Amino acid sequence: MRVFKFGGASVKDAAGVENVVSVLQKVGHKNTLVVVSAMGKTTNALEVVIEQYRDKNPELSNSIKTLKDAHTGILTDLFKSEQHPIFAKISAIFDDLKTFLERNKSPKYDYIYDQVVSYGEIISTTILSEFLTLKGFDNDWLDARTLVKTNSTYRDAKVDWEATQQAISSTVNKQNLSITQGFIGADTNNFTTTLGREGSDYSAAIFAYCLNAESVSIWKDVDGVLNGDPRVFKNTKLLNQISYEEAIELAFYGASVIHPKTLQPLQQKEIPLYVKSFINPENVGTSVSKGQTLEPFIPCFIVKKNQVLISLSSLDFSFIVEENISEIFSLFHKYQVKVDLIQNTAISFSVCVNNKFGHLQDLIAELRAKFDVSFEENVSLYTIRHFDQAAAEGLEKDKTILLKQLGTETYQIVTKQ
Ligand code: ADP
Ligand code: ASP
Ligand code: MG
Repeated sequence: MRVFKFGGASVKDAAGVENVVSVLQKVGHKNTLVVVSAMGKTTNALEVVIEQYRDKNPELSNSIKTLKDAHTGILTDLFKSEQHPIFAKISAIFDDLKTFLERNKSPKYDYIYDQVVSYGEIISTTILSEFLTLKGFDNDWLDARTLVKTNSTYRDAKVDWEATQQAISSTVNKQNLSITQGFIGADTNNFTTTLGREGSDYSAAIFAYCLNAESVSIWKDVDGVLNGDPRVFKNTKLLNQISYEEAIELAFYGASVIHPKTLQPLQQKEIPLYVKSFINPENVGTSVSKGQTLEPFIPCFIVKKNQVLISLSSLDFSFIVEENISEIFSLFHKYQVKVDLIQNTAISFSVCVNNKFGHLQDLIAELRAKFDVSFEENVSLYTIRHFDQAAAEGLEKDKTILLKQLGTETYQIVTKQ
Protein backbone atom coordinates (compact mmCIF):
# COMPACT_ATOMS: atom_id res chain seq x y z
CA MET A 1 0.00 0.00 0.00
CA ARG A 2 1.08 3.58 -0.64
CA VAL A 3 0.85 6.70 1.47
CA PHE A 4 0.38 10.08 -0.20
CA LYS A 5 0.60 13.51 1.35
CA PHE A 6 -0.96 16.60 -0.14
CA GLY A 7 0.10 19.85 1.53
CA GLY A 8 -1.65 23.16 1.96
CA ALA A 9 -0.44 24.54 -1.37
CA SER A 10 -1.97 21.61 -3.27
CA VAL A 11 -5.48 22.21 -1.87
CA LYS A 12 -5.45 25.99 -1.62
CA ASP A 13 -8.55 26.44 -3.80
CA ALA A 14 -11.19 24.52 -5.78
CA ALA A 15 -8.83 24.00 -8.74
CA GLY A 16 -6.31 22.50 -6.30
CA VAL A 17 -8.86 20.03 -4.92
CA GLU A 18 -9.85 19.08 -8.47
CA ASN A 19 -6.18 18.58 -9.30
CA VAL A 20 -5.75 16.21 -6.33
CA VAL A 21 -8.58 14.11 -7.75
CA SER A 22 -6.96 14.13 -11.17
CA VAL A 23 -3.58 13.09 -9.70
CA LEU A 24 -5.30 10.16 -7.95
CA GLN A 25 -6.99 9.25 -11.22
CA LYS A 26 -3.64 9.25 -13.04
CA VAL A 27 -1.53 7.39 -10.50
CA GLY A 28 -4.21 5.10 -9.03
CA HIS A 29 -6.26 5.38 -5.89
CA LYS A 30 -6.68 1.86 -4.52
CA ASN A 31 -4.50 0.66 -1.63
CA THR A 32 -3.76 4.28 -0.85
CA LEU A 33 -3.92 6.37 2.29
CA VAL A 34 -3.94 10.11 1.64
CA VAL A 35 -2.78 12.54 4.32
CA VAL A 36 -3.99 16.09 3.78
CA SER A 37 -3.06 19.46 5.32
CA ALA A 38 -5.26 22.47 5.93
CA MET A 39 -6.15 24.44 2.80
CA GLY A 40 -3.69 27.14 1.73
CA LYS A 41 -2.82 29.45 4.60
CA THR A 42 -5.65 28.27 6.88
CA THR A 43 -3.28 27.28 9.70
CA ASN A 44 -1.82 30.81 9.78
CA ALA A 45 -5.34 32.26 9.81
CA LEU A 46 -6.29 29.98 12.72
CA GLU A 47 -3.19 31.10 14.59
CA VAL A 48 -4.53 34.66 14.32
CA VAL A 49 -7.92 33.46 15.64
CA ILE A 50 -6.16 31.88 18.64
CA GLU A 51 -4.20 35.06 19.41
CA GLN A 52 -7.35 37.17 19.11
CA TYR A 53 -9.16 34.81 21.47
CA ARG A 54 -6.32 35.08 23.99
CA ASP A 55 -6.22 38.88 23.68
CA LYS A 56 -10.04 39.21 23.78
CA ASN A 57 -9.75 41.07 20.49
CA PRO A 58 -13.21 42.05 19.14
CA GLU A 59 -12.01 41.10 15.62
CA LEU A 60 -12.24 37.43 16.62
CA SER A 61 -15.69 36.70 15.18
CA ASN A 62 -14.83 38.53 11.93
CA SER A 63 -11.72 36.42 11.51
CA ILE A 64 -13.71 33.22 11.93
CA LYS A 65 -16.31 34.49 9.47
CA THR A 66 -13.63 35.33 6.88
CA LEU A 67 -12.22 31.83 7.18
CA LYS A 68 -15.66 30.28 6.89
CA ASP A 69 -16.50 32.42 3.84
CA ALA A 70 -13.26 31.36 2.15
CA HIS A 71 -14.11 27.69 2.64
CA THR A 72 -17.72 28.21 1.57
CA GLY A 73 -16.45 29.87 -1.62
CA ILE A 74 -14.42 26.74 -2.38
CA LEU A 75 -17.48 24.58 -1.67
CA THR A 76 -19.58 26.62 -4.09
CA ASP A 77 -16.95 26.17 -6.82
CA LEU A 78 -16.69 22.43 -6.18
CA PHE A 79 -20.23 21.32 -5.38
CA LYS A 80 -22.26 24.05 -7.13
CA SER A 81 -25.64 23.29 -5.51
CA GLU A 82 -25.95 24.62 -1.97
CA GLN A 83 -28.35 21.74 -1.34
CA HIS A 84 -25.37 19.41 -1.09
CA PRO A 85 -25.01 18.21 2.54
CA ILE A 86 -21.33 19.32 2.62
CA PHE A 87 -22.47 22.94 3.18
CA ALA A 88 -24.27 22.01 6.40
CA LYS A 89 -21.41 19.75 7.44
CA ILE A 90 -18.75 22.46 7.14
CA SER A 91 -21.04 24.98 8.79
CA ALA A 92 -21.49 22.59 11.73
CA ILE A 93 -17.69 22.23 12.06
CA PHE A 94 -17.36 26.03 12.32
CA ASP A 95 -20.17 26.02 14.93
CA ASP A 96 -18.16 23.45 16.89
CA LEU A 97 -15.12 25.71 16.80
CA LYS A 98 -17.16 28.66 18.11
CA THR A 99 -18.72 26.50 20.84
CA PHE A 100 -15.26 25.38 21.95
CA LEU A 101 -14.12 28.99 22.26
CA GLU A 102 -17.25 30.01 24.17
CA ARG A 103 -17.06 27.14 26.63
CA ASN A 104 -13.32 26.81 27.11
CA LYS A 105 -12.18 27.42 30.68
CA SER A 106 -8.55 26.39 30.28
CA PRO A 107 -5.98 29.19 30.45
CA LYS A 108 -3.36 26.96 28.80
CA TYR A 109 -2.39 28.61 25.52
CA ASP A 110 -0.74 25.59 23.90
CA TYR A 111 -3.73 23.38 24.73
CA ILE A 112 -6.16 25.92 23.24
CA TYR A 113 -3.87 26.29 20.22
CA ASP A 114 -4.09 22.60 19.35
CA GLN A 115 -7.85 22.32 19.91
CA VAL A 116 -8.39 25.24 17.52
CA VAL A 117 -5.66 24.93 14.89
CA SER A 118 -6.68 21.32 14.13
CA TYR A 119 -9.97 22.50 12.58
CA GLY A 120 -8.04 23.40 9.42
CA GLU A 121 -7.23 19.76 8.70
CA ILE A 122 -10.66 18.47 9.80
CA ILE A 123 -12.29 20.87 7.33
CA SER A 124 -9.94 20.22 4.38
CA THR A 125 -10.22 16.43 4.64
CA THR A 126 -14.00 16.59 4.98
CA ILE A 127 -14.20 18.64 1.79
CA LEU A 128 -11.78 16.42 -0.17
CA SER A 129 -13.49 13.21 0.98
CA GLU A 130 -16.97 14.46 -0.04
CA PHE A 131 -15.66 15.75 -3.35
CA LEU A 132 -14.03 12.39 -4.11
CA THR A 133 -17.34 10.68 -3.35
CA LEU A 134 -19.13 13.10 -5.68
CA LYS A 135 -16.63 12.17 -8.41
CA GLY A 136 -17.24 8.46 -7.87
CA PHE A 137 -14.16 7.59 -5.78
CA ASP A 138 -15.26 5.56 -2.77
CA ASN A 139 -13.17 6.54 0.22
CA ASP A 140 -12.93 6.18 4.00
CA TRP A 141 -12.61 9.44 5.94
CA LEU A 142 -10.51 8.67 9.00
CA ASP A 143 -10.11 10.86 12.07
CA ALA A 144 -6.35 10.98 12.73
CA ARG A 145 -7.09 11.79 16.38
CA THR A 146 -8.27 8.21 16.83
CA LEU A 147 -5.14 6.88 15.12
CA VAL A 148 -2.09 9.00 15.96
CA LYS A 149 -1.69 8.70 19.72
CA THR A 150 0.63 11.12 21.46
CA ASN A 151 1.69 12.51 24.81
CA SER A 152 0.21 15.83 26.01
CA THR A 153 2.99 18.19 24.91
CA TYR A 154 0.62 20.45 23.02
CA ARG A 155 2.05 21.99 19.81
CA ASP A 156 5.00 19.59 19.86
CA ALA A 157 3.46 16.25 20.74
CA LYS A 158 5.52 13.06 20.82
CA VAL A 159 4.09 9.93 19.22
CA ASP A 160 3.22 6.88 21.35
CA TRP A 161 4.30 4.37 18.71
CA GLU A 162 2.78 1.31 20.31
CA ALA A 163 -0.69 2.79 20.74
CA THR A 164 -0.50 4.38 17.28
CA GLN A 165 0.56 1.14 15.63
CA GLN A 166 -2.29 -0.69 17.34
CA ALA A 167 -4.91 1.91 16.34
CA ILE A 168 -3.75 2.21 12.73
CA SER A 169 -3.45 -1.50 12.02
CA SER A 170 -6.86 -2.24 13.48
CA THR A 171 -8.64 0.60 11.65
CA VAL A 172 -7.20 1.29 8.20
CA ASN A 173 -8.53 -0.87 5.39
CA LYS A 174 -5.45 -1.25 3.21
CA GLN A 175 -7.39 -2.13 0.07
CA ASN A 176 -9.37 1.11 0.04
CA LEU A 177 -8.71 4.77 -0.54
CA SER A 178 -8.48 6.46 2.88
CA ILE A 179 -8.42 10.18 3.54
CA THR A 180 -7.03 11.47 6.82
CA GLN A 181 -5.48 14.56 8.39
CA GLY A 182 -1.83 15.42 8.70
CA PHE A 183 -0.41 17.35 11.65
CA ILE A 184 -2.93 16.23 14.29
CA GLY A 185 -3.29 13.47 16.84
CA ALA A 186 -4.73 13.05 20.33
CA ASP A 187 -3.47 12.37 23.83
CA THR A 188 -4.71 9.74 26.28
CA ASN A 189 -7.58 12.05 27.33
CA ASN A 190 -8.60 12.34 23.66
CA PHE A 191 -7.71 16.01 23.56
CA THR A 192 -6.34 17.07 20.21
CA THR A 193 -2.57 17.48 19.93
CA THR A 194 -0.37 18.64 17.04
CA LEU A 195 3.04 17.47 15.87
CA GLY A 196 4.53 20.91 15.18
CA ARG A 197 4.05 23.32 12.29
CA GLU A 198 4.46 21.75 8.86
CA GLY A 199 4.09 18.36 10.54
CA SER A 200 1.92 16.70 7.88
CA ASP A 201 4.93 15.16 6.13
CA TYR A 202 5.75 13.53 9.45
CA SER A 203 2.16 12.26 9.76
CA ALA A 204 2.56 10.57 6.37
CA ALA A 205 5.70 8.85 7.65
CA ILE A 206 3.91 7.72 10.83
CA PHE A 207 1.10 6.12 8.80
CA ALA A 208 3.59 4.55 6.37
CA TYR A 209 5.62 3.07 9.22
CA CYS A 210 2.58 1.59 10.95
CA LEU A 211 1.13 0.25 7.69
CA ASN A 212 4.45 -1.11 6.37
CA ALA A 213 3.73 0.92 3.26
CA GLU A 214 5.71 0.29 0.07
CA SER A 215 6.33 4.03 -0.40
CA VAL A 216 5.41 7.56 0.63
CA SER A 217 4.86 10.30 -1.96
CA ILE A 218 4.67 13.91 -0.88
CA TRP A 219 3.14 16.05 -3.61
CA LYS A 220 4.58 19.56 -3.85
CA ASP A 221 4.48 22.69 -5.98
CA VAL A 222 8.09 22.03 -7.05
CA ASP A 223 9.55 19.22 -9.21
CA GLY A 224 11.11 17.51 -6.20
CA VAL A 225 13.95 18.34 -3.83
CA LEU A 226 16.15 20.94 -5.51
CA ASN A 227 19.64 21.96 -4.41
CA GLY A 228 18.13 25.10 -2.89
CA ASP A 229 14.75 26.72 -2.29
CA PRO A 230 13.83 28.20 -5.71
CA ARG A 231 12.12 31.11 -3.94
CA VAL A 232 15.48 32.12 -2.47
CA PHE A 233 18.28 30.79 -4.70
CA LYS A 234 18.78 31.15 -8.45
CA ASN A 235 19.49 28.36 -10.98
CA THR A 236 18.49 25.52 -8.69
CA LYS A 237 18.75 21.92 -9.94
CA LEU A 238 16.65 18.85 -9.25
CA LEU A 239 18.21 16.18 -7.03
CA ASN A 240 17.26 12.78 -8.44
CA GLN A 241 18.39 10.62 -5.53
CA ILE A 242 19.20 11.36 -1.90
CA SER A 243 20.12 8.86 0.80
CA TYR A 244 18.14 8.92 4.04
CA GLU A 245 21.18 10.16 5.95
CA GLU A 246 21.75 13.04 3.56
CA ALA A 247 18.04 13.94 3.47
CA ILE A 248 17.96 14.01 7.28
CA GLU A 249 20.91 16.41 7.23
CA LEU A 250 19.32 18.65 4.59
CA ALA A 251 15.99 18.75 6.43
CA PHE A 252 17.71 19.33 9.77
CA TYR A 253 19.61 22.33 8.41
CA GLY A 254 16.31 23.75 7.16
CA ALA A 255 15.49 22.47 3.66
CA SER A 256 11.81 23.01 4.41
CA VAL A 257 10.55 20.92 1.50
CA ILE A 258 10.68 17.88 3.86
CA HIS A 259 9.82 18.13 7.55
CA PRO A 260 12.90 16.93 9.48
CA LYS A 261 11.02 14.33 11.54
CA THR A 262 9.71 12.57 8.42
CA LEU A 263 12.80 10.59 7.53
CA GLN A 264 13.67 8.61 10.64
CA PRO A 265 10.60 6.33 10.67
CA LEU A 266 10.97 5.74 6.92
CA GLN A 267 14.65 4.93 7.21
CA GLN A 268 13.93 2.38 9.93
CA LYS A 269 11.81 0.32 7.56
CA GLU A 270 13.60 1.41 4.37
CA ILE A 271 10.40 2.83 2.94
CA PRO A 272 11.27 5.07 -0.04
CA LEU A 273 10.08 8.67 0.01
CA TYR A 274 9.21 10.27 -3.32
CA VAL A 275 8.96 14.04 -3.54
CA LYS A 276 6.87 14.79 -6.61
CA SER A 277 5.15 17.64 -8.39
CA PHE A 278 1.37 17.83 -8.13
CA ILE A 279 1.50 19.97 -11.27
CA ASN A 280 3.43 17.39 -13.34
CA PRO A 281 2.60 14.10 -11.59
CA GLU A 282 4.09 12.01 -14.39
CA ASN A 283 7.59 13.41 -13.71
CA VAL A 284 9.77 11.16 -11.55
CA GLY A 285 10.72 13.77 -8.96
CA THR A 286 13.19 12.97 -6.19
CA SER A 287 13.68 9.61 -4.56
CA VAL A 288 14.91 9.49 -0.97
CA SER A 289 15.99 5.93 -0.33
CA LYS A 290 18.83 3.61 0.57
CA GLY A 291 21.59 4.21 -1.95
CA GLN A 292 23.67 7.03 -3.35
CA THR A 293 24.24 10.00 -1.02
CA LEU A 294 23.31 12.60 -3.58
CA GLU A 295 22.77 12.39 -7.31
CA PRO A 296 23.87 14.71 -8.87
CA PHE A 297 26.55 15.39 -6.25
CA ILE A 298 26.41 19.20 -6.10
CA PRO A 299 26.45 21.84 -3.33
CA CYS A 300 23.05 22.27 -1.63
CA PHE A 301 21.99 25.66 -0.27
CA ILE A 302 19.71 26.15 2.72
CA VAL A 303 18.56 29.25 4.57
CA LYS A 304 16.75 29.66 7.88
CA LYS A 305 15.44 33.19 8.32
CA ASN A 306 14.27 34.99 11.46
CA GLN A 307 16.87 33.41 13.68
CA VAL A 308 18.39 34.93 16.80
CA LEU A 309 22.12 35.05 17.44
CA ILE A 310 22.84 34.94 21.18
CA SER A 311 26.36 35.54 22.48
CA LEU A 312 27.26 34.75 26.05
CA SER A 313 30.45 35.40 27.91
CA SER A 314 31.35 34.86 31.52
CA LEU A 315 30.97 37.88 33.81
CA ASP A 316 34.43 37.41 35.35
CA PHE A 317 36.51 36.19 32.37
CA SER A 318 36.36 32.63 33.65
CA PHE A 319 36.17 29.82 31.11
CA ILE A 320 32.86 28.62 29.77
CA VAL A 321 33.14 24.90 30.45
CA GLU A 322 30.94 21.79 30.47
CA GLU A 323 29.13 22.83 33.62
CA ASN A 324 28.02 26.23 32.24
CA ILE A 325 27.22 24.76 28.86
CA SER A 326 24.94 22.12 30.32
CA GLU A 327 23.21 24.81 32.38
CA ILE A 328 22.78 26.98 29.28
CA PHE A 329 21.29 24.06 27.36
CA SER A 330 18.85 23.17 30.09
CA LEU A 331 17.58 26.78 29.88
CA PHE A 332 17.17 26.46 26.10
CA HIS A 333 15.16 23.32 26.72
CA LYS A 334 13.06 24.98 29.44
CA TYR A 335 12.12 27.88 27.14
CA GLN A 336 11.63 25.64 24.05
CA VAL A 337 14.32 27.51 22.15
CA LYS A 338 15.71 25.31 19.35
CA VAL A 339 19.46 25.57 18.80
CA ASP A 340 20.66 25.53 15.19
CA LEU A 341 24.35 26.36 15.51
CA ILE A 342 26.89 26.49 18.32
CA GLN A 343 30.32 28.10 18.48
CA ASN A 344 32.45 28.45 21.56
CA THR A 345 35.80 29.89 22.61
CA ALA A 346 37.39 29.88 26.06
CA ILE A 347 35.29 32.66 27.52
CA SER A 348 32.44 33.07 25.07
CA PHE A 349 29.67 30.97 23.63
CA SER A 350 27.50 31.85 20.62
CA VAL A 351 24.36 30.11 19.46
CA CYS A 352 22.00 30.69 16.61
CA VAL A 353 18.49 29.79 17.74
CA ASN A 354 14.91 29.71 16.61
CA ASN A 355 12.38 31.56 18.77
CA LYS A 356 9.27 29.89 17.39
CA PHE A 357 7.60 29.48 20.78
CA GLY A 358 8.17 33.17 21.62
CA HIS A 359 9.99 32.67 24.94
CA LEU A 360 13.20 34.52 23.99
CA GLN A 361 12.83 37.44 26.40
CA ASP A 362 12.32 35.15 29.41
CA LEU A 363 15.34 33.10 28.39
CA ILE A 364 17.54 36.19 28.01
CA ALA A 365 16.43 37.49 31.41
CA GLU A 366 17.39 34.23 33.10
CA LEU A 367 20.74 34.00 31.25
CA ARG A 368 21.63 37.57 32.27
CA ALA A 369 21.72 36.53 35.91
CA LYS A 370 24.85 34.48 35.17
CA PHE A 371 26.39 35.71 31.92
CA ASP A 372 27.11 38.77 29.93
CA VAL A 373 24.53 38.39 27.17
CA SER A 374 24.05 40.12 23.85
CA PHE A 375 21.66 39.06 21.11
CA GLU A 376 20.63 40.04 17.64
CA GLU A 377 17.22 39.19 16.22
CA ASN A 378 16.23 38.68 12.56
CA VAL A 379 19.47 37.13 11.43
CA SER A 380 19.69 34.43 8.74
CA LEU A 381 21.50 31.14 8.98
CA TYR A 382 22.84 29.92 5.63
CA THR A 383 24.14 26.39 5.20
CA ILE A 384 25.88 24.80 2.22
CA ARG A 385 26.13 21.02 2.27
CA HIS A 386 29.00 19.69 0.13
CA PHE A 387 30.36 23.18 -0.34
CA ASP A 388 33.18 24.24 -2.59
CA GLN A 389 34.99 27.54 -2.76
CA ALA A 390 32.89 28.92 -5.58
CA ALA A 391 29.65 28.12 -3.76
CA ALA A 392 30.87 29.75 -0.54
CA GLU A 393 32.17 32.87 -2.30
CA GLY A 394 28.97 33.28 -4.28
CA LEU A 395 26.90 33.07 -1.13
CA GLU A 396 29.03 35.53 0.85
CA LYS A 397 28.70 38.25 -1.75
CA ASP A 398 26.84 41.35 -0.45
CA LYS A 399 26.21 39.83 2.98
CA THR A 400 27.24 41.05 6.41
CA ILE A 401 28.63 37.95 8.08
CA LEU A 402 28.29 37.74 11.86
CA LEU A 403 29.65 34.24 12.33
CA LYS A 404 31.15 31.52 10.15
CA GLN A 405 31.67 27.82 10.73
CA LEU A 406 33.27 25.21 8.48
CA GLY A 407 33.10 21.43 8.75
CA THR A 408 34.24 18.81 6.27
CA GLU A 409 30.86 18.61 4.53
CA THR A 410 29.10 21.68 5.80
CA TYR A 411 29.68 25.41 5.60
CA GLN A 412 27.52 27.79 7.67
CA ILE A 413 27.28 31.54 8.05
CA VAL A 414 25.03 33.71 10.18
CA THR A 415 24.27 37.01 8.45
CA LYS A 416 22.24 40.14 9.01
CA GLN A 417 18.89 39.64 7.27
P1 ADP B 1 3.34 21.84 1.48
O1 ADP B 1 2.27 22.38 0.60
O2 ADP B 1 3.48 20.36 1.40
O3 ADP B 1 3.25 22.34 2.87
P2 ADP B 1 5.75 23.36 1.44
O4 ADP B 1 5.35 24.74 1.06
O5 ADP B 1 6.01 23.10 2.87
O6 ADP B 1 4.69 22.36 0.85
O7 ADP B 1 7.03 22.89 0.60
C1 ADP B 1 7.21 23.25 -0.75
C2 ADP B 1 8.09 24.48 -0.83
O8 ADP B 1 9.34 24.19 -0.21
C3 ADP B 1 8.49 24.89 -2.23
O9 ADP B 1 7.52 25.73 -2.81
C4 ADP B 1 9.83 25.59 -2.03
O10 ADP B 1 9.69 27.00 -2.05
C5 ADP B 1 10.27 25.18 -0.63
N1 ADP B 1 11.61 24.59 -0.60
C6 ADP B 1 12.53 24.86 0.37
N2 ADP B 1 13.65 24.18 0.15
C7 ADP B 1 13.47 23.48 -1.00
C8 ADP B 1 14.29 22.58 -1.73
N3 ADP B 1 15.53 22.27 -1.35
N4 ADP B 1 13.78 22.02 -2.84
C9 ADP B 1 12.52 22.30 -3.23
N5 ADP B 1 11.70 23.15 -2.59
C10 ADP B 1 12.15 23.74 -1.48
N1 ASP C 1 -1.36 22.75 8.38
C1 ASP C 1 -0.17 22.59 9.19
C2 ASP C 1 0.74 23.80 8.99
O1 ASP C 1 0.47 24.64 8.14
C3 ASP C 1 0.56 21.32 8.95
C4 ASP C 1 1.16 21.17 7.58
O2 ASP C 1 0.72 21.85 6.65
O3 ASP C 1 2.07 20.35 7.41
O4 ASP C 1 1.69 23.93 9.71
MG1 MG D 1 3.74 23.09 4.46
